[in-house]
Amino acid sequence: MIDLLAPGLLTDAFRRPITYLRISVTDRCNLRCVYCMPEGGLPWIPKAEILTFEEIERVVRAAAPLGVRSIRLTGGEPLVRRDLPELVARLAAIPGIDDIALSTNGLLLADLAADLRAAGLRRVNVSLDTLRADRFAAIARRPGLDRVLAGIDAALAAGLGPLKINCVVMRGQNDDELADFAAFTRERAVFVRFIEVMPVIENATLQREAYVPSGELLDRIARDGELLPVAGPGGNGPARYYAFAGAPGAIGVISPLSHDYCETCNRVRLSADGQLKLCLFGDTGIDLRTPLRRGADAEELGAIFTGAMAIKPERHHLDLGKPASAMRALSEIGG
Ligand code: SAM
Repeated sequence: MIDLLAPGLLTDAFRRPITYLRISVTDRCNLRCVYCMPEGGLPWIPKAEILTFEEIERVVRAAAPLGVRSIRLTGGEPLVRRDLPELVARLAAIPGIDDIALSTNGLLLADLAADLRAAGLRRVNVSLDTLRADRFAAIARRPGLDRVLAGIDAALAAGLGPLKINCVVMRGQNDDELADFAAFTRERAVFVRFIEVMPVIENATLQREAYVPSGELLDRIARDGELLPVAGPGGNGPARYYAFAGAPGAIGVISPLSHDYCETCNRVRLSADGQLKLCLFGDTGIDLRTPLRRGADAEELGAIFTGAMAIKPERHHLDLGKPASAMRALSEIGG
């Protein structure tokens, strides 16, 4: 068993071992979810500032000897980045990296699932906020429910499991579908995770009005049958899980506002333009792109990771309708 607090491994000032790196491969997205991005999109990062696959690989090669074991590729929508399986293959070949996962909206997943699996991807999380086609088009501001469902099937068929579905719950918009999503877990070995809307600059009013605390949504789902606390499917996440007796799947809740999970935080993030972000809701970050582009070796990059541990914040401070950072949308640093 690895001693995660051993000297030389990444541990922050609060003795939290950092073993998980979330990498945003693009800030662009092919959806415009109402709680995330304005309809016209955001000012995109110029292409020349986006890290190349080779640069991302160098970052991960520097982080792996420091104890980083798990990678998640995210965005923006990671599948709009061309040739993503090539990046997966590069990262899967790095000694010490034993878990590569992907967060996707699923629109392009059906075509790519088998290639991603063959390249070394282990798991996917698919974001899906509604099971109704008209509502999908209203929430995501683009159609595509059928393609997302086909993507989920393709991922399961390719062996990309355990498969988690992430559903952002909004009062008055999709909170009447809690029972339908919960019913999914009675039929399939999927883990449906309900996420509280988090406040960012672009959504402060919607967040205040649409926020449903996780405790309330669990109470509402429990009207359809007793929910028993269960172990999660593994992974690195902050979700707490519950299941109906005998169901193959489970329901999870991610409650950044009502149940802060910062004390077990094990992660840092790499934005698409090469900023090492120490907290999703904090503005502390360190520029890795400049050293990468002047040719820094793994030792120098590793020293930047190690130094960054001193400024990882203890916790975020989210409040109803109050963004905790200058981030306009999660897509900017990788949700
Ligand atoms: N495009 C990919 C996807 O859809 O999973 C990865 C990036 S997306 C920003 C990651 C997750 O963040 C999605 O599940 C999305 O619904 C969620 N998300 C975005 N903005 C959010 C917000 N303000 N509050 C809660 N979840 C949010």
